[in-house]
Amino acid sequence: MPNDKLPPLAVVAIPAFQDNYLWLLVRGKSAAVVDPGDAAPVRATLERLDLDLCAIVLTHHHRDHIGGVSALCAAYGAGSLPVYGPAAESIAGVTVPLEDGAVVRLESLALELQVIAVPGHTRGHIAYYADVLPRPLLFCGDTLFGGGCGRLFEGTPVQMQASLARLAALPDATLVYCAHEYTLANLRFARAVEPDNAALLRRELEDQARRARSEPTVPFALVGERATNPFLRWDAPAVKAAAEARVKGASLSAAATFAAIRAWKDRF
Ligand code: ZN
Ligand code: FE
Repeated sequence: MPNDKLPPLAVVAIPAFQDNYLWLLVRGKSAAVVDPGDAAPVRATLERLDLDLCAIVLTHHHRDHIGGVSALCAAYGAGSLPVYGPAAESIAGVTVPLEDGAVVRLESLALELQVIAVPGHTRGHIAYYADVLPRPLLFCGDTLFGGGCGRLFEGTPVQMQASLARLAALPDATLVYCAHEYTLANLRFARAVEPDNAALLRRELEDQARRARSEPTVPFALVGERATNPFLRWDAPAVKAAAEARVKGASLSAAATFAAIRAWKDRF
């Protein structure tokens, strides 16, 4: 929807708890919040920037992603605030349950979000993709992280690998907004899997420098993730070989390679 008069879309990071990012989508004076685990920092940001909250968007049912929903609904909208969330999970306060392929139209932000079902971390986890200029945006909760992926609390490795494959198929330039700052720990593990991956070593230095300056490593571009994240690299010969050595198996499938790397990371 190109429109010269439209103010630009911005994404504001709201740090919360130890290492969560709550994401605020902003256009003009309108805002939507993704995964408000805590209401207080969201309210403070809305007040500081003088914004109206128009929608809440949820990826999955974990407390650190939904804990602020009821307080935000009480403070804004007086019961009329739409709350989008996965149809396959029961989350108190959700007013618009979403299935794979649904489209969320946020009128006041002139923004459409496409829903992608990504089961694995939880059974009903969904991600939101916005095909906008200059670069597409992906809000993926706890599915894909910088250099890593979410733990399999409810889903199977087969499900999670298929979910990550769908995200990995999005355009190169897509900016990935995940919900946690886990990148450096993930890259330490990635280096154990692929010690000779030059792109990975470069990325680790860059992200270490960012953290040293207290800057987030999120968002990150999908193209760099495919080059460095072992949980998207089930086809890379070095990752496959590392997985096969780990489980003493031969010619592992993509899902079995992913499963072996995920199990390794759980004990790393
Ligand atoms: Zn979670
Ligand atoms: Fe989380």
